[in-house]
Amino acid sequence: MSTFPSAGPILLDLRPGQTVFGFDILRISPLPELRCIACEARHRRTGARLLHLVADDAENLFAISFRTPPPDDTGVAHILEHSVLGGSRRFPVKDPFVEMLKSSMATFINAFTYPDRTIYPVASNVRKDYFNLVGVYLDAVFHPSIRPETLKQEGSHLELAERGNPKSPLILRGVVYNEMKGVYSDLDNILNRESSRLLFPASPYGLDSGGDPEVIPTLTYEAFTGFYRRFYSPANARIVLYGDIPTREQLEFLDAHLRECETVEQADSSIGMQPRWTAPREAEILYPVTSDEGLTRKTAITMSWLIGALPDPILELGVAVLDIVLLGHAAAPLRKALVESRLGEDLTGSGYSTGSLEGTFHVGLKGTDPERKDDLHALVFRILEGLATTGIPEEEIEIAFNQLQYSHREIQSMYPLHLMDAALSAWNFDHDPLTYLRFEGLMDGLYKRYQACPSFFTELLRTQLIDNPHRVTVTCRPDPELQERQDRRLQERLEQMKKSFAPEELDRLDAEAVALEELQSAPNSPEALATLPRLHITDLSAEPKVIPCSVVHLSRQVPLVQCDVFANGVNYLILAFDLSGMPPELLEYVPVFSSLFSKLGAGAESYVQTARRMAKKTGGLRASTFLSTDAQDAGQLLNYLTVSIKALDSTYVEALGLVRDLLLGLNLNEADRLRDVTVQRKVQLQSNLIPEGHRFAALHAARTLSSAAYLGDLWGGIPQLRLADRLAREVRGDVGPFCTKLEAVHKSLVRGSRMAACFTGSDALREPTTQWMDSLIRELGLGSGRPATSSPIAVPPGRALAEGLVAAADVGYCALCMPAPHASHPDAPLLSVFCQLLTFDYLWQEVRVKEGAYGGFASYDALAQVFEFLSYRDPAIRGTLNVYANVIDYARTGKWTEDDVERAVMACAKADEKPIRPGAATATALWRQLGHVTEELRRQRRADLLRARPETVRAAAVRLLEEGLPQGNTCVLGNQAKLEEANRGAVRPLALENVFPSTPD
Ligand SMILES: [Zn+2]
Repeated sequence: MSTFPSAGPILLDLRPGQTVFGFDILRISPLPELRCIACEARHRRTGARLLHLVADDAENLFAISFRTPPPDDTGVAHILEHSVLGGSRRFPVKDPFVEMLKSSMATFINAFTYPDRTIYPVASNVRKDYFNLVGVYLDAVFHPSIRPETLKQEGSHLELAERGNPKSPLILRGVVYNEMKGVYSDLDNILNRESSRLLFPASPYGLDSGGDPEVIPTLTYEAFTGFYRRFYSPANARIVLYGDIPTREQLEFLDAHLRECETVEQADSSIGMQPRWTAPREAEILYPVTSDEGLTRKTAITMSWLIGALPDPILELGVAVLDIVLLGHAAAPLRKALVESRLGEDLTGSGYSTGSLEGTFHVGLKGTDPERKDDLHALVFRILEGLATTGIPEEEIEIAFNQLQYSHREIQSMYPLHLMDAALSAWNFDHDPLTYLRFEGLMDGLYKRYQACPSFFTELLRTQLIDNPHRVTVTCRPDPELQERQDRRLQERLEQMKKSFAPEELDRLDAEAVALEELQSAPNSPEALATLPRLHITDLSAEPKVIPCSVVHLSRQVPLVQCDVFANGVNYLILAFDLSGMPPELLEYVPVFSSLFSKLGAGAESYVQTARRMAKKTGGLRASTFLSTDAQDAGQLLNYLTVSIKALDSTYVEALGLVRDLLLGLNLNEADRLRDVTVQRKVQLQSNLIPEGHRFAALHAARTLSSAAYLGDLWGGIPQLRLADRLAREVRGDVGPFCTKLEAVHKSLVRGSRMAACFTGSDALREPTTQWMDSLIRELGLGSGRPATSSPIAVPPGRALAEGLVAAADVGYCALCMPAPHASHPDAPLLSVFCQLLTFDYLWQEVRVKEGAYGGFASYDALAQVFEFLSYRDPAIRGTLNVYANVIDYARTGKWTEDDVERAVMACAKADEKPIRPGAATATALWRQLGHVTEELRRQRRADLLRARPETVRAAAVRLLEEGLPQGNTCVLGNQAKLEEANRGAVRPLALENVFPSTPD
């Protein structure tokens, strides 16, 4: 098995006390549990602090973090995060971040605004690329070209609705302004935001670092630049590095950049503690719904506590254990009681939230009514008191310790980012950055405390929750008129402002808007672009990265793929069941079945027994659906139900036993449980509607284009949302007909279906896996051939549709989907390149920069045969649809150089360069096996991709659009008023329908 050896040999000719390239080396600490050595240093002249986690891993990460507690709700930290990535001294291009995205091999590139810090992380497997990215990021944060226009574009600005027409109304535009309007229309976000605001009235955590749309427009340029000067200095910076590039090389590079920074006295960025209350508080707030949604069971009530945490990591880990004990799995007492109480339909985002100076704990219900508040209180306290009095069962505490192991042991995707977060969670408050990285020691310490004092956790329960008066209960009620009132208030405010402006001021505003637009439209000069460092195709590895794996064939020719990837004592298994023999009328029930699969009892066990077994023996068990087509055969649809588990070496075999019991039979006799999980599922799907509005719009628009797209919509789009809604109502009565459907799906699944599997994990568990699978195949009576009864999917007719989905969304989501060639078509690689050019050139410019949408991009699913244009949190529906209609002109006349195409090619090749982490590798290796994605084919396609030239890309794009655009379907998700406004005077108005047709309650 491949190893992930310790970093010993890489480091370390460095010693504490040395000064290397301007850095004082402070401490060298081995972290054997992470196979790292930590080197801490401080830049002598500027005071910048540094932590390098040296590991034998080629995915190198750089992150620079500034402590940025917000002074108000203007979103200044967030707007700055956007703005510093908008051009800098050495790289005077409009958007170096986007330019780097176009061609870098970055495995991660982004920026985050936390409630108390702003972090700029990048990661790459390619050393040259890594240093390119770090150079661009360092110049961006220390020498950004911030101008008044930057604040206008990224924050907000006023302009006339119609250029040159002083009679037209004033409107507000700006990237962060629109982004936050989207955030503020989502119930979960509103609840989060409000409970923080109330819990921390005297701390920066009570403010919104992201920005409140009502307050964002009040941010002045002086306050904006003042905030930058105050917090973006090396003295306020913490730099985290991870990977195998030697520390000396890193220090030399960083010193060269830091040396150019002015040394400034570090401004005070410390965060004060919230003074504690002596009595709990309550509050009521409103959130927007559409007028025909009905108001019963639309309220959310949440109880939030302020937890005393840092600087006591043992206490903090103790609360994390309590969190799992109370809410961590379906049988956990608080979760179980809340769900079974029927006081609401599902839990709100509940549990322990940490990573800040002071943690919080939340518990609550959605789908409830305001008069249930006292019952909810009583129930929560009854459960907590009960546990505190009778004691927490030892088994529950063991389960919690076991679950926490996974978070630490697992080599997740974006592993370096995970370590960065762990370091900064302590370091940001001037505590030892290794605090949370030395996880095993913390766990041991906590366990010892528990052993010495068996009432440790019940005492914690009392002090932190039961007897903790710093608690607030928020009732969030639906208000169908809220949106309209807010819109009206804004309109009135804007009208007032307009009245107060002299005509020449309006002219100036208009001139500024024109200038801003000109600035935005002007392309970067070739000289400016040439300043950016970049990779060339010759920097790519010659062949795509291969997941080392082999295939064994079990009885009845069932293939088992075994990956040879280091997994650190966590084992992953995925079973895939072919659905091509499933009767068509059952297909819509497959996602319902898969979501219930891990929530019911196995065989004769109750759901409580099974849930506890699952939490004890696995680190997660889930069923889901997989949809694609064969990479070499467009006609071959791949539709599977998958069951995946992960488990530690010590519990893996028992975890397999649980999977077997679930596959042999689900306990459908607990009618109340079936009702509860069906209602929960409805609420969960509904809460995805607005945050993923663009996805729902795209699935809806694509449903008539191919069988894969049709099934995609049926399984994950509006039809599934509506089915969930219908089922939630049906199960209030007799659950019999529903059970019959579930049984039919189950039967069709295991009888005569084809199966495949993939395993990644410890060598010693390979043999037990094959033996277990052989006996499972016999027990289930699975087949290996394609089922004889395979029935083709009937795709509904319809092309050139124009539709609107009405929902309570403050901003719009626009999708245009058209039919496109399959992955096996020679145009496919060329169209991936076109997709890349379109996203980062035309759509970025037109939809994000000019129309002010938070996101605008193209996507090409060559396996589903769909090419789509999407916008996200979009204030300008008609404008965006016009942009889509003009893509063909862009394709015909766009001036792409050899260089542009080379960069787009590199960005496409990036998908094959991802670091191989065990969980993701298991899934990828399985789909490659099932979809006939051979290594030969991958090499072939890489070679085809590298041959793309401007003229071949253009020819393929024009072919796609000439044929596809006239047949393309449009779908926009938005609120009634916005959609009607978009339809006014439109040549092809959108046919509107409500996402949820009103139904009597
Ligand atoms: Zn943002």
